[in-house]
Amino acid sequence: MIQLYIPLNFLGVIYREIKQSLADMERLFGLLEQNREVADSRDARALQTQGARVTFSNVEFSYEPKRQILFDVDFTIPAGTTTAVVGHSGSGKSTLSRLLFRFYDVNSGSITIDGQDLREVTQESLRHAIGIVPQDTVLFNDSIEYNIAYGKPGATKDEIIAAARAASIHDFIDSLPDGYATTVGERGLKLSGGEKQRVAIARTLLKNPAILIFDEATSALDSKAEQAIQAELKEIAKSRTTLVIAHRLSTVADAQQILVLDHGRIVERGTHQQLLAANGLYAQMWERQQARQDEELKSPVEELS
Ligand code: ATP
Repeated sequence: MIQLYIPLNFLGVIYREIKQSLADMERLFGLLEQNREVADSRDARALQTQGARVTFSNVEFSYEPKRQILFDVDFTIPAGTTTAVVGHSGSGKSTLSRLLFRFYDVNSGSITIDGQDLREVTQESLRHAIGIVPQDTVLFNDSIEYNIAYGKPGATKDEIIAAARAASIHDFIDSLPDGYATTVGERGLKLSGGEKQRVAIARTLLKNPAILIFDEATSALDSKAEQAIQAELKEIAKSRTTLVIAHRLSTVADAQQILVLDHGRIVERGTHQQLLAANGLYAQMWERQQARQDEELKSPVEELS
């Protein structure tokens, strides 16, 4: 048992590290900014949002010519509502968010926001309109104040504090000896997963984007922290067009629309109740996840006995 445990644990560490280095969209977008594949068209205009209705029309996409990732993806997120995307690992969920951020252009079909094709608007205005709460927030080796203000260059201290309060991280910051001046990041104070996500939420609140992308963390926070973060996200998702990339089905149940992706195709769509009633892939995934949760609840007791 012990022999088995060590390699599995080791694999878990490697998996988490790979996940961390690959999955952080914010860093991905940031680092590759200079090198991105898309450019503004010559007559690109600033995106004008009015509620920010997002439409993917018959989108086909591949990163590499020989391997198509998305097939005929067609959906609308009505202005101010939440759509969650679920599906097995590798089904293309995060790819949707990368395309909405226009990190890549679609091969065919189109993506529009309030009727404006992403290829016809400036990337600066597009990125201004979208806030991302990534799986693993990267913190700069700088003060926590700087890390929050990054959401809105030139934000006043009052605005920063208000955002931190709304993200339920102000009291924690205030309790640190150096308060908002505390250095965080690799070379500073290490924050927990939940604290980092709160910094990301505070950043996003300051940015006040019309569209929110929430890439749910795969590494589970403890359930109390998880519920608190969910409640805060629900608050900031209110009246914003929100795309949730969901890794746990329990967090999508009250989205207005759930899309089920399978090998790059939307195979089911509807509300949680509708999808359960349809008794298809979503219902299967839901059942499996419930069973797994029951197992997880049981296993510590079994280990003790
Ligand atoms: P997960 O739940 O594991 O995060 P996902 O559903 O979000 O998975 P995506 O990240 O969208 O999946 O990836 C979809 C497919 O595209 C995967 O097969 C992946 O290997 C491939 N892929 C992702 N990024 C790239 C890239 N930059 N270049 C080539 N292929 C890629």
